Amino acid sequence: MTLEKDNRSPLSASHQIERLRAEQFSHIARHTPGVMLANICNATVFMAASWDRPYRIAALCWGALVIAIASFVFLRRKTRRTSTYRPAASSSRRGVYRAVGYAAALGSCWGALPLLFLDQASVGGKLLIACLCSGMLGGGAFVLASIPPAAAAFSGPIALGSFAALLASGDRDYLLTTIVLAVYSAVLMRAVWNYAEGLERRVKTQVEAESKASERLARLHASGLHALGGMASGLAHEIAQPLAAASAYVETSKRLLREPTSEALPLVERNLQGASEQIGHVGDIVDRLRHFLLEGKPSSSLVHLRSLIEEACRANRRALENANVRVHLRLEATKDAVQADRVQITQVLANLLRNAIDAMEGVSDRSIMIACVNEDDWVRVDVADSGAGVDEGVRESLFEPFMTTKPKGMGVGLAMSRSIVEAHGGRIWMEPNAKAGSTFSFVLPCDRCAEASITT
Ligand code: ADP
Repeated sequence: MTLEKDNRSPLSASHQIERLRAEQFSHIARHTPGVMLANICNATVFMAASWDRPYRIAALCWGALVIAIASFVFLRRKTRRTSTYRPAASSSRRGVYRAVGYAAALGSCWGALPLLFLDQASVGGKLLIACLCSGMLGGGAFVLASIPPAAAAFSGPIALGSFAALLASGDRDYLLTTIVLAVYSAVLMRAVWNYAEGLERRVKTQVEAESKASERLARLHASGLHALGGMASGLAHEIAQPLAAASAYVETSKRLLREPTSEALPLVERNLQGASEQIGHVGDIVDRLRHFLLEGKPSSSLVHLRSLIEEACRANRRALENANVRVHLRLEATKDAVQADRVQITQVLANLLRNAIDAMEGVSDRSIMIACVNEDDWVRVDVADSGAGVDEGVRESLFEPFMTTKPKGMGVGLAMSRSIVEAHGGRIWMEPNAKAGSTFSFVLPCDRCAEASITT
């Protein structure tokens, strides 16, 4: 593993190494005090057992060295708050070197024990040395398993010292003991490496999962901004139409008033009435938006989808005529009343109509079929065109914000439509037509008490 220049990405190599080292150290830190106490205790036991032996001085010196190193490591660990250990990459690397250094120092002391004393010890003393060495070898490997080089630096010298002392004795039984010890040591070290690998994998998976979670959060945040952007663009679009119409009415009135005649005056009045209605429509949109922002839900009233469809066709008549598109209506739904925000549903219909017109640009037979039918407690609207159909590559992300294949498109129409339909408890989708073009459909829940109170 190589350390790269540190950066802030949670998935960066340095971040992963840091997290791995923090885990390694926290595993070691949990057991260090206990193992250091075991070192001190075992060394004291051996010094006591050697008290009346000829090698007493050597044993005392050896024991003093072990106790000094273990006490140092114990006190050092105690004075550090390891539970919140979060090392920087370079200091954590120094920490690994230090751990390996302490392990090698203590391991060498225990490895020296059989070399120094085994051949002079009594049978009981030999047994004690064997027990002390195997206990330290196994215990050390367990505690240092998270950092395999440290485990090897500790257990390796003990195993080697024991092998050398046992083989030097020339005894057949000791030779067999050496083989058993070698097998146990190999199994132990293999387990250490497996544990370390597993730990590394776990940390990596965890870091990746955390990073994905934070990416998702960032995406959510971004899509929130997108939705706001989409809303603003959709609103601009929606307001632009009545304003343009109002402006056309005012311009016509201005022209008529340049040479006022008695016939012109009623026309001027009608035009100004038209302008006033369009401006009132803008006011409606702004009111509904304000309601939506304050209440978090569309303002709803009882509306009939069949009449909204007819209205949308009327409002887009000029665009349909200019594009030479024939419109067929199949408004069969008998229960077409829904609780809905009239302006928003009109906007969905207008988006679907405009998209259908755009999709038929290069096509000779241009027709749109709009159907309104009942399906159980739902009312479904289909807008089918005979256009080029939806590009294969964009089908998956058709309703995503800012997805557009048009040179001047904004890619907000369908995203907005989906938000609106879903906010009304419905669903919107697209299906390619068998012959040509595609059908965009949406369903809304029928209003159950609608029969009596028709408001549109
Ligand atoms: P825009 O119209 O600004 O591109 P929309 O969200 O309304 O944004 O549409 C997104 C894309 O979906 C369009 O660019 C187009 O590729 C595709 N699309 C929408 N309606 C149709 C349709 N009736 N036929 C073919 N493609 C369509």
